[in-house]
Amino acid sequence: MKNRYIAAALAFFLGGLGAHKFYLGKWIGIIYLLFCWTYIPSIIALIEGIFYLVNGEEDFNRKYNCRIKTSRPDSYISFNPPINTSSTPRSSDTTDTDIVCPQCGHINEAGSNFCESCGQKL
Ligand SMILES: [Zn+2]
Repeated sequence: MKNRYIAAALAFFLGGLGAHKFYLGKWIGIIYLLFCWTYIPSIIALIEGIFYLVNGEEDFNRKYNCRIKTSRPDSYISFNPPINTSSTPRSSDTTDTDIVCPQCGHINEAGSNFCESCGQKL
């Protein structure tokens, strides 16, 4: 996991040599090294270092730690409440053996052959 504070510190102090780019695995740091005598890489690195700090952890991780999951997918999953399997006490007044009449919906006692309400064969 690359740390953006380390990257920023490298950019500030060794940025003219492309140290922060090498730290982040970017071979473009070679360019910084080649042109370090112009001081232009130092200025660019200074700006980049500020960006590392300003853009925030998530933006930095998205760019340089893309293999590592950011906290975003995990927090997205936690928004979905777990399915509450225990909240189905609808059959509390009926037992599993009670027979519901297909004709009128009357709940008949277990073992009934005919509906108490409408006489439908069960
Ligand atoms: Zn019935």
